[in-house]
Amino acid sequence: MDIRISDAASGKNLHIDFASGISVSCAFFPPEGEVALVDILPEIFSLSNELIAHALAAAAAEGSRASCEKGCVSCCYQLIVMSDHEALLLAHIVSLMEPKERARVKAALRSMLQILERHGLLAEMLDSHANCFTDSKRLVEVQKKYWELQLACPFLVDGACSVYAFRPLVCRQYMVSSPRECCAQIFKPGNMMKKIPLAYDLGSALASFNGAAAKPTLAVPIPAVLLVNGLLESFPRPKASAEAMMAAFLAHLEENFTRSAARP
Ligand code: SF4
Ligand code: SF4
Repeated sequence: MDIRISDAASGKNLHIDFASGISVSCAFFPPEGEVALVDILPEIFSLSNELIAHALAAAAAEGSRASCEKGCVSCCYQLIVMSDHEALLLAHIVSLMEPKERARVKAALRSMLQILERHGLLAEMLDSHANCFTDSKRLVEVQKKYWELQLACPFLVDGACSVYAFRPLVCRQYMVSSPRECCAQIFKPGNMMKKIPLAYDLGSALASFNGAAAKPTLAVPIPAVLLVNGLLESFPRPKASAEAMMAAFLAHLEENFTRSAARP
């Protein structure tokens, strides 16, 4: 992989040539000085947008296109999980909301937690995602039970994502080419859902990286984003220059989360 950061009059630009032959460029405006991984999430989101555009173009070249469009929201009823870094950012975004919207989000999250507790799913949801992320059978069971409750994401407002610029990578990366109706019955046996293949899984890379090195995957389910915020804030967070941290993250991504779509 070759990484170049150019500093043109129009602003900094990050250019990456992956070993797969895929090349992407995106804007790069990180904070100066030493940063934690959460501080360069806007840059990682920009990179994700470019890789998604690349995946959509590759799908189009094979005659397939994403069925996703604004107002189509079945996927916002799935159990959304994100890296601890994204959870910190989302909790911060909630803290910056105007009071009425912040109160609405907090009330929606509280209500979700109560429903999950009533159905005996809260402890299982937290434990499985924090401590047993390799146990895919257990995770699928939790996701199925969560889906049956049909809880809308608390950030879904009038059929649109109210935190669109800061939505987790899992929401960005989830695109399907199958008919939209398939998304409304994801656990139905024989469901023909077809995802748009991605060359690199940034979401999984982020959840298993602490800013300096790989770590066991820690996934935060969206209903718990405020519940665990205090705990997440107490975690040590390695710091480095944004350029060095992005290079380390990209090496982790390429080494561990290159998907088959990147292979010829
Ligand atoms: S993933 Fe499915 S439900 Fe979500 S926007 Fe795309 S088509 Fe609609
Ligand atoms: S964060 Fe936004 S895109 Fe993701 S599930 Fe919630 S409303 Fe949908």
